[in-house]
Amino acid sequence: MNVNQSAPPVPPFGQPQPVYPGYHQSSYGGQPGSTAPPTHYGAYNGPVPGYQETLAPGVSRAPPSLGAPPATTAQTPCGQAAYGQFGQGDVQNGPSSTVQMQRLSGSQPFGSAPLAPVVSQPTVLQPYGPLPTSSQVTAQLAGMQISGAMAPAPPTLGLGYGPPTSLASASGSFPNSGLYGSYSQGQAPPLSQTQGHPGAQPPQRSAPPQASSFTPPASGGPRMPSMSGPLLPGQGFGGPPVSQPNHVSSPPPQVLPPGTQMTGPPGPPPPMHSSQQPGYQLQQNGSFGPGRGPQPNYGSPYPGAPTFGSQPGPPQPLPPKRLDPDAIPSPIQVIEDDRNNRGSEPFVTGVRGQVPPLVTTNFLVKDQGNASPRYIRCTSYNIPCTSDMAKQAQVPLAAVIKPLARLPPEEASPYVVDHGESGPLRCNRCKAYMCPFMQFIEGGRRFQCCFCSCINDVPPQYFQHLDHTGKRVDAYDRPELSLGSYEFLATVDYCKNNKFPSPPAFIFMIDVSYNAIRSGLVRLLCEELKSLLDCLPREGRAEESAIRVGFVTYNKVLHFYNVKSSLAQPQMMVVSDVADMFVPLLDGFLVNVNESRAVITSLLDQIPEMFADTRETETVFAPVIQAGMEALKAAECAGKLFLFHTSLPIAEAPGKLKNRDDRKLINTDKEKTLFQPQTGAYQTLAKECVAQGCCVDLFLFPNQYVDVATLCVVPQLTGGSVYKYACFQVENDQERFLSDLRRDVQKVVGFDAVMRVRTSTGIRAVDFFGAFYMSNTTDVELAGLDGDKTVTVEFKHDDRLNEESGALLQCALLYTSCAGQRRLRIHNLALNCCTQLADLYRNCETDTLINYMAKFAYRGVLNSPVKTVRDALITQCAQILACYRKNCASPSSAGQTKSPIESTTEPPAVRASEERLSDGDIYLLENGLNLFLWVGASVQQGVVQSLFSVSSFSQITSGLSILPVLDNPLSKKVRGLVDSLRAQRSRYMKLIVVKQEDKLEMLFKHFLVEDKSLSGGASYVDFLCHMHKEIRQLLS
Ligand SMILES: [Zn+2]
Repeated sequence: MNVNQSAPPVPPFGQPQPVYPGYHQSSYGGQPGSTAPPTHYGAYNGPVPGYQETLAPGVSRAPPSLGAPPATTAQTPCGQAAYGQFGQGDVQNGPSSTVQMQRLSGSQPFGSAPLAPVVSQPTVLQPYGPLPTSSQVTAQLAGMQISGAMAPAPPTLGLGYGPPTSLASASGSFPNSGLYGSYSQGQAPPLSQTQGHPGAQPPQRSAPPQASSFTPPASGGPRMPSMSGPLLPGQGFGGPPVSQPNHVSSPPPQVLPPGTQMTGPPGPPPPMHSSQQPGYQLQQNGSFGPGRGPQPNYGSPYPGAPTFGSQPGPPQPLPPKRLDPDAIPSPIQVIEDDRNNRGSEPFVTGVRGQVPPLVTTNFLVKDQGNASPRYIRCTSYNIPCTSDMAKQAQVPLAAVIKPLARLPPEEASPYVVDHGESGPLRCNRCKAYMCPFMQFIEGGRRFQCCFCSCINDVPPQYFQHLDHTGKRVDAYDRPELSLGSYEFLATVDYCKNNKFPSPPAFIFMIDVSYNAIRSGLVRLLCEELKSLLDCLPREGRAEESAIRVGFVTYNKVLHFYNVKSSLAQPQMMVVSDVADMFVPLLDGFLVNVNESRAVITSLLDQIPEMFADTRETETVFAPVIQAGMEALKAAECAGKLFLFHTSLPIAEAPGKLKNRDDRKLINTDKEKTLFQPQTGAYQTLAKECVAQGCCVDLFLFPNQYVDVATLCVVPQLTGGSVYKYACFQVENDQERFLSDLRRDVQKVVGFDAVMRVRTSTGIRAVDFFGAFYMSNTTDVELAGLDGDKTVTVEFKHDDRLNEESGALLQCALLYTSCAGQRRLRIHNLALNCCTQLADLYRNCETDTLINYMAKFAYRGVLNSPVKTVRDALITQCAQILACYRKNCASPSSAGQTKSPIESTTEPPAVRASEERLSDGDIYLLENGLNLFLWVGASVQQGVVQSLFSVSSFSQITSGLSILPVLDNPLSKKVRGLVDSLRAQRSRYMKLIVVKQEDKLEMLFKHFLVEDKSLSGGASYVDFLCHMHKEIRQLLS
């Protein structure tokens, strides 16, 4: 291990983790800690040679999101940037977005519209080999948590469907936009017809022509070479894991009593009778399969089993079967069920290994000893005891940690514990912080560390008697002994240079080149700042913010402003030597807003006028960041730079960039170079920023190629955010920009942060994903960290785990609060350990798995062709499912139809497929970046009037982005829904009204993720069939 551990011998798989520097243990009998060198965080372990200082750790802050857009924005004239304007390269670490579509009933009472039985177009089936029946797929996938992942996956994985691609595809085509577009690259090209399936395989004798592309999944049909004979009941068509506390994806009949059938070995193969398969129906509309509703075909306990039957059986003319979309796992159903089942009761964290409700469920949390799922979520809450088992299952072991997560008003922030000069109590050996799992012994005089088993003395001032159960009698009076999350006030030993920090500062750095002035950006921004500066983050109930502010404008040179309160007018100082950046003033640059209000207001009034006639089109970029960082350094504080920038920095200066946009590289092995920075200069700069606690938030307003992949390096490595407004125009984009800006400026940030994750013996953190910097293998350094940012941590075994003791995680975040207080925030989580794979699968958490896989994939595309990454993901999913099916699946009657769910608060969600749209209705689709309001051509006139204040469908303006404020219930309800959806996202989602059959509908359809993509990517059904085939191959 790369730890400079000295003292006590550690167990072979212990996890000795050196402390933060200068923390002296002597006060309670530990070995004296060495005083930290007064530099940056070298003392948190120092650089470890093996660590790659590449961009790799950064995951969602991102080239896939960000790298792609330049490729097209540069070549797309503004007027045609059909999509560039709708979204922005969202680069944050928050939970991934899902595409959700909700029907806003037009013709029926709002919110209660049952789904219309629309079958306008049959789902296309592709020649991925024999089709499993829907119930097979359902059985195979539905039971697992995986089922819930399917629909959220597309946008999350970001490999095509998601907003990033839509940005990239500003030209209007959707190259590779399908999540599973790899099929079209590497495998049989998917067919795009909506009728008929001229697939690779010749028509089967018993099938009508439409069936030619896939084999009827029955014994009467030809067998596939890959079939391995009848499947065992235990492995064939698995039902859901039993007694899942979560993600109940089907009605109760599927839920078996706990512990049944899941763990036993598979039984003997059941006899297969082709007669059990009554056959397939050919629907009149040319689509296959039975209509919705009960499926008489699947009465057998092993639905669809004959698909893989080895007995040929008598030839039997079987019409082809279309997969019933209602019978395959429905993500929205999973979400809905979880809301209904788990949204009403608080989630109490007292019990080890409980799977929390889905992230889409609103629930309250009661901390009773484990961290709230708002702070930590795991891919599984029951992890395999051995690495062999983990390898077999292929389920990644990871935690997604959002240390400063925002809480709903009903939940209290973590208590702050002050242990005075002695600081927080820690284990002498592994340096874990006192937590509810530490075991007090010897009458309370000592405690045994729950992470490394070391026996520690309890310092006299912390001594307390134990009750008859061995618990300290003050356990419930101390947050660190009874709660999962709490904070310690840090002592000076935890501070840089052994000095308590100063309050942080915000520096606003405004591009005043020609484009920024012409678009109206500078005027808009200066006007907004006048009021926004009153809303800087405050500590608790403090009357005013402790944060100081400073201002810089720039084009090819930089202008610093002295806004000292004693001045009558602001003073400008120009620095034109951008190659050797220095800060020309100290006193008067960073000021208190209230004290300097008059001067600041004057400055913000003058800036747009001063540069109104500028002809300067060239900008610098790196020197601007350098200047901000130097200013913070000079003021000896941490802080944040807000950069408002318009163009590729081509002026002669450090960090100068060239236009390297090359569309020819897309879909080649060199595509990844587009996602990588073109110079290492920004990485070096980022490192300096991290050392200073200088976080950079970047607002981009490009009219052409701007090389986001390079410009975002510093924001990414400093825990910042990037916002992008292509072809910014005040009238169209100000609402979105101002909304993002207000939120960004006001959000609470922890500065100069270091995060360490400790684990109990047997597992350890091996990899980290997110937007941060690491100078060694264990400490995640974040110049800034806000409530939207997460760090994903992957764990690996280094020893056998124990079912009885379970596994523990402790995340410690050392940071400076927005008032300048140095604190430690501690989150603890206990997990179960298992020796049965079924227990692992049953306790998986889909949202976290998807988050992990998305970040893993993101890192992958920086180094490998997208297709390789996509294939690897599919392979891993297939391995996970195959292992599940082989070891855990149990027979069940899957494929049942779902009972309609009535939702009282918002309209019921509709699956994201064109087939689900009725032209008499209105639907709202959300993808995390945009909100689309689709209006059917036959919507009742009254509804049109109520919502749009026009008398007919034809009068509705296509692309409308603001709904008129009308005083009627429908208008209020729809606008309220839009507002509430926006409030749930960290970025402002622009509304786009899409009329049926209008040209914008293409864009809308791009996000109907269950459909075949316009560029040929597989539909959801096709993909499940493909997975089914992959799984079968793995099992054979
Ligand atoms: Zn320990």
